[in-house]
Amino acid sequence: MTTLRCERVLQLTLAVIKPDAVAHPLILETLHQKILENNFIVVRKKDLWWRRKDSESFYAEHSGRFFYQRLVEFMSRQVCGPMRAYILAREDAVAHWRELMGPTKVYRARYTAPNSVRALYGLTDTRNTTHGSDSAESAKREIAFFFPEFSVQQWLDKEEQRFRAGH
Ligand code: GDP
Ligand code: MG
Repeated sequence: MTTLRCERVLQLTLAVIKPDAVAHPLILETLHQKILENNFIVVRKKDLWWRRKDSESFYAEHSGRFFYQRLVEFMSRQVCGPMRAYILAREDAVAHWRELMGPTKVYRARYTAPNSVRALYGLTDTRNTTHGSDSAESAKREIAFFFPEFSVQQWLDKEEQRFRAGH
């Protein structure tokens, strides 16, 4: 008899619902449900506000680009309300969350991925609803930025132990 072993290699990603989407209860709830429906494990979740220097530091790679100042300002504007950050786990978490988000620019998302989150709920290229890490390495760095108390390596090691123990 052949034994099928159901292997799962979990990957972590950072997903952020930006303040424009958190401000709308129905959109927030829809996005949360989408995460669950797509078999992500919610490892951690928190609502938080940024100070300007957090925003500048997180988006430092875009410093100097024409949209940098408005992005930094939007992400740290207290009046918009909090953003929501998740650590999500599943197979291919990074790529899968980015696929759900769709292209960065809302107009492009509407043409090329009309059912994506950004196409459906994005307002502008700045207020494009969500952020997602773009690689496993950036996920590690970005998770540390939002959840400094969380160790990616420790979580992955424990997950591997659980897997080896057959749980
Ligand atoms: P992402 O990884 O898809 O979020 O895209 P990037 O890392 O390239 O950019 C970070 C964020 O900067 C995006 O999510 C947008 O909010 C913003 N951004 C990127 N490109 C543009 C642009 O051309 N115009 C404006 N207004 N914002 C942009
Ligand atoms: Mg990016």
